[in-house]
Amino acid sequence: MSEELQLETLALHTGIHRSQFNEHSEAMYLTSSFVFDSAEQAAARFMGQEPGNIYSRFTNPTVTAFEERLAVLEGAETCIATSSGMSAILACVMGLLSAGDHIVASRSLFGATVNLFNNILKKFNIDTTFVSATDAKAWQAAIQPNTKLFFLETPSNPLTEISDIVELAGIAKKAGIWLAVDNCFCTPILQKPLELGADIVIHSATKYLDGQGRILGGAVLGKRELMMDGGIYGFLRTAGPTMSAFNAWVVLKGLETLNIRMQAHSENALKMAQWLELQPSIQRVYYPGLASHPQYELAKRQQKSGGGIVTFEVKGGREAAWRVINSSRLISITANLGDAKSTLTHPATTTHARISQEAREAAGISEGMLRIAVGLEAVQDIQADLARGL
Ligand SMILES: *Cc1c(COP(=O)(O)O)cnc(C)c1O
Repeated sequence: MSEELQLETLALHTGIHRSQFNEHSEAMYLTSSFVFDSAEQAAARFMGQEPGNIYSRFTNPTVTAFEERLAVLEGAETCIATSSGMSAILACVMGLLSAGDHIVASRSLFGATVNLFNNILKKFNIDTTFVSATDAKAWQAAIQPNTKLFFLETPSNPLTEISDIVELAGIAKKAGIWLAVDNCFCTPILQKPLELGADIVIHSATKYLDGQGRILGGAVLGKRELMMDGGIYGFLRTAGPTMSAFNAWVVLKGLETLNIRMQAHSENALKMAQWLELQPSIQRVYYPGLASHPQYELAKRQQKSGGGIVTFEVKGGREAAWRVINSSRLISITANLGDAKSTLTHPATTTHARISQEAREAAGISEGMLRIAVGLEAVQDIQADLARGL
């Protein structure tokens, strides 16, 4: 595919390998294994002397099509699809790290990522130091001789803190540390971490890449050498949390509309954030596209727009927050995000309920806080639905 084509075009035309039937929409290859012409060919494929599919835990044409398309969008040499966002993060650390290695990670990470680092990796003698997402000096100070990986999400969930990818990539590079960015909230449409100096991009394809809340999926992207020789692909091929052909097909088609969806999510979210700021029952609104956001200038430099997630604090604590949730008729009460339908969640009692109250307060997650993943409905309908409980 020509490199001169624009992203929205590439999202539609990359990764197409038509079968003998010349189908227009991409075919789905639901098969666990592939047939060889001869014993010689089977042997050559297994020895890696001849390219081609063997078994869907290793490669599958539908999964490959998704990988090619997402790689082009992120500007990555290589993309490896996984069964979920969490297995993408697991594959990244299992591939790159060994017992005795150390991670420096943002304190504002997805809850399951914190549990993976804190509870599971620790059993294998991989320790993590958590630092502020926005304090580059703290990242520098947390580096140990055995630090191998910086790991962050930006904007963070639910507070929409922005980490400076260029600055942290500079610190990481100088110290010989890999920087991994979970780009789930922005997608490559709004933010390109590899262009900003990151070594690895992580995705939960479950969110905006699918965009309609249908499947679980994930991806790890970066330089070919790191993905292949670094052991990430080897871990997946051996341990098995690969993406299924069906899920790959769904999210492959999701990528075709990603550009217009992300623009529409961002436009709706900005309107929601501006409207929420005017409501007397709201204490504070967190959205990177608002001039009142403490890192508005950085967000403007780093992201194309603010994205679809708006967090806000209602006056009156948990009771008032739950009233907003329970008064809604249109917005779905669910912790998922990145769906075409708006979703509303109370982080303190759902996504962040398993961490201690102290840790929650240190992270700035209050009892009156709500997070809305703004969908593609008419924005006045979302506003009217929230207004019922405000
Ligand atoms: C949902 C999410 C994940 C985990 O993805 P799954 O597909 O649910 O495994 C990781 N990071 C972020 C930022 C997420 O929102």
